[in-house]
Amino acid sequence: MGMRTLATDYLVVGAGAMGMAFTDALIDHADVHVTLVDRRHTAGGHWEDAYPFVQLHQASSFYGVASTELGTGAVQQRPPEAGLHERAHRSEIQAYYDDILRRRFVGSGRVSFLGGSEYRPDGGSHLVTSRVSGETVKVEVRRRLVDATYLSPTVPATTPPPFGVGDGARAVAVNALGTLAEAPRRYVIVGSGKTATDAVVWLQMNGVEPDRITWVRPREPWMLDRAVVQPDPVVALGLAADTMAAAAAATSLDDLFLRLEAAGVMLRIDSGRVPTMAKTPTLGTWELELLRRVENVVRLGRIRNVTRDRIVLDGGSVPLPPGSLVVHCAASGLRYPPVVPIWAPDMIRIQTIRAGFPCFNAALAGYVEATRDDDRERNRLCPPNTLPDNPANWAQMQVRGTIAARRFGAEADIAAWANDCALNPARIEPSQRHTPAVEAAATRLADETERGLPRLAALADEPLA
Ligand SMILES: Cc1cc2nc3c(=O)[nH]c(=O)nc-3n(C[C@H](O)[C@H](O)[C@H](O)COP(=O)(O)OP(=O)(O)OC[C@H]3O[C@@H](n4cnc5c(N)ncnc54)[C@H](O)[C@@H]3O)c2cc1C
Repeated sequence: MGMRTLATDYLVVGAGAMGMAFTDALIDHADVHVTLVDRRHTAGGHWEDAYPFVQLHQASSFYGVASTELGTGAVQQRPPEAGLHERAHRSEIQAYYDDILRRRFVGSGRVSFLGGSEYRPDGGSHLVTSRVSGETVKVEVRRRLVDATYLSPTVPATTPPPFGVGDGARAVAVNALGTLAEAPRRYVIVGSGKTATDAVVWLQMNGVEPDRITWVRPREPWMLDRAVVQPDPVVALGLAADTMAAAAAATSLDDLFLRLEAAGVMLRIDSGRVPTMAKTPTLGTWELELLRRVENVVRLGRIRNVTRDRIVLDGGSVPLPPGSLVVHCAASGLRYPPVVPIWAPDMIRIQTIRAGFPCFNAALAGYVEATRDDDRERNRLCPPNTLPDNPANWAQMQVRGTIAARRFGAEADIAAWANDCALNPARIEPSQRHTPAVEAAATRLADETERGLPRLAALADEPLA
């Protein structure tokens, strides 16, 4: 018997946040059939392997797909985050994607889902092999192949620790904190990113005193104060204006971040050190207080290996007390592949366009794919952006994102769509546009951008054209 063949308009590889948001916007604006493939058995991507206590670091409404809001849009009423918008936990995110996949996508007949299946190109053909049955089908793609795996993050559960673990040392991925049989005497948290900060906060919320925690922090991170990343146009315009104002006066990239800290935008854990890391997840000020309570911080670079009684790092070694559990929070998370045009002859590679916010960007690419018919024009409207890792590429991302937002925002239909889309952090609903507070914030942003953008571009060594 020959190989089975399926025909489809779009073959989207990856049913994570990016593939889901792209597909959702595409089928909403074009009469097309999509085949969505993922080696995982369902949609949601890395959330399937996330640690059990993970939460979105931003408001739920900024995450998911454009057609259907994640969560209720409510503001939290109780401490420690009263006044800030709700943030979904892992199970809510998984249930949300499952519902979108089963009901909205597959249920409509517009999308076929090949779960538990591996995509592989074969010459000019597209092959999908079920990891369950072993069957390989050939997919005939009438319009486009879409790579929604290009920015897929690496997470500790599926990435071994980037250091050796000798006999007698106990090291686990952060996920294992949810299934401990017995409390270790000491926790050694390894990593400087969102996962590590989440672990340090969660341990203390579960009664672990900070003197039982050692924190191996190879880099010091800059983080955004969660209060300035909220679904509220006055807050969003204020954040953008503060960024441009800080840039206008900045003498260096470090000075830019210090000014942003003074303006209440950026947070750092140790006020005596200038961070070199700027992936900039958001952080609550209540979390910052807990992070600062950990005094046993090891700053000797990255770990090379852990032995029964020592941690050996690039810059030296420290004792590992008996009964320690080493917790791997050191996957790189965000990935930084080469920034390439999103629309290429062979495929569409979903990347970010405006600064940050992967879901909005993927939805925007889906909308533009559906509503424009020329790739040159699509690439002009949606130039690809980089994800942030350090102050230099954070600044580069802001410059590129500002230019991109001007380009796609100048198209009336895209502007209307974006202002109706909850995923868009810069959304201004028509009813809000002419309120005095929004008008004042928009005027301030325009003024600050005129002064700040050229300076930001110079600091980032990024052309403004
Ligand atoms: C812990 C954590 C928390 C985060 N929190 C936030 C947040 O609060 N807000 C925010 O905006 N962003 C957040 N991010 C970042 C954001 O979630 C990610 O950048 C984005 O969701 C990644 O989605 P993705 O679709 O690119 O990747 P993935 O979720 O990794 O999805 C890609 C999918 O492609 C599949 N795949 C890959 N190759 C193949 C193949 N050959 N065949 C078949 N399938 C394949 C994989 O199985 C995977 O399911 C967070 C990231 C992490 C790691």
